[in-house]
Amino acid sequence: MHDFYSDTQTRPTRAMREAALDVPLGDERHDADPPTMELCARVADMLGMEAALFLPSGTMCNEIAIAVHTRPGDEVICTRDSHIIFAESGGPAALSGVMMHPLDCERGMMTPEQVLDAVRPRSAHAPRSRLLVAEQTANLAGGAVWPVEQLNAVAEAARGAGLATHLDGARILNAQVATGVPAADYAKGFDSAWIAFTKGLGCPVGAVLAGSRDFVDKAWLLKRRWGGAMRQTGVLTAMCLYALDHHVERLAEDHALARAIGARLADLPGIARVLPVETNIVIADLADRVPEARDLARRLRARDVTVTVVGRRRLRIVTHLDVGPADADALVAALAAEAVPA
Ligand SMILES: *Cc1c(COP(=O)(O)O)cnc(C)c1O
Repeated sequence: MHDFYSDTQTRPTRAMREAALDVPLGDERHDADPPTMELCARVADMLGMEAALFLPSGTMCNEIAIAVHTRPGDEVICTRDSHIIFAESGGPAALSGVMMHPLDCERGMMTPEQVLDAVRPRSAHAPRSRLLVAEQTANLAGGAVWPVEQLNAVAEAARGAGLATHLDGARILNAQVATGVPAADYAKGFDSAWIAFTKGLGCPVGAVLAGSRDFVDKAWLLKRRWGGAMRQTGVLTAMCLYALDHHVERLAEDHALARAIGARLADLPGIARVLPVETNIVIADLADRVPEARDLARRLRARDVTVTVVGRRRLRIVTHLDVGPADADALVAALAAEAVPA
């Protein structure tokens, strides 16, 4: 299989698994698991936060952060194509009872003016605008990287209007590697932020959510309540520590491969448009008279190539540890053969 479905598809490497064999273990919910405590301290430091906690998934990071920052009936300001809207099973409504205020944005990034326009004046009629959520990188915008000035300005505008701020940093390390701007600089101005270990970093499980000491204390309460507290998580977090040491700089290889794929797809007659490729995600729009994305993805699968359908005529292609130039050749050949205008 040439698997471009997502960077979540990676299998842990042998070296990563071996890193988990000989670590001291304890009960994480009693702060007694050394690798987990080390990982949380490292991620808090990377994001410029006071403290952090280990969670089973990025979705739980977002949902716990929303619950900590809001009360039922509050409103969350985010972009229309945010992960918290399209891929968390209605969690913000079901778990926190909040309303979403989606903004239509260029490349998944709002402006400070858009945020200020979206904040509702306090009144007994309107919901309370309470939380701003931003994504670095912007997933459905094709892994687009927020310029640090714009991200800081949006966070500052939100805070100035009395909102809490949360950064979905699932792929923030892709942004750091692509630009050289440290993750902490992107997270500046945010009350909470997290990074995923199951995306480009190649781990099987885990995400780390960071914030102030007080935020993390409140987040721990929900982690326990919602059944996310675990035991000897060192078997997982030792692999995460390994990934921080060995799989961050190599994200540049994923970015180079994605750029090469983007350039080759742009030359195919069946592809109308490729969004600018900044990190490890390529979004390609199909030309008229080419089979629809869902149908095309099925045909690609018959050629052992998997991609994601993210719109009626839109495909997403993601590079990661487990795909290389030969897989890219197979992908381009399959698209050249199947994405043919009728
Ligand atoms: C993957 C992803 C998440 C959720 O992470 P899971 O670990 O799959 O729950 C949240 N936000 C963004 C932007 C993501 O890409």
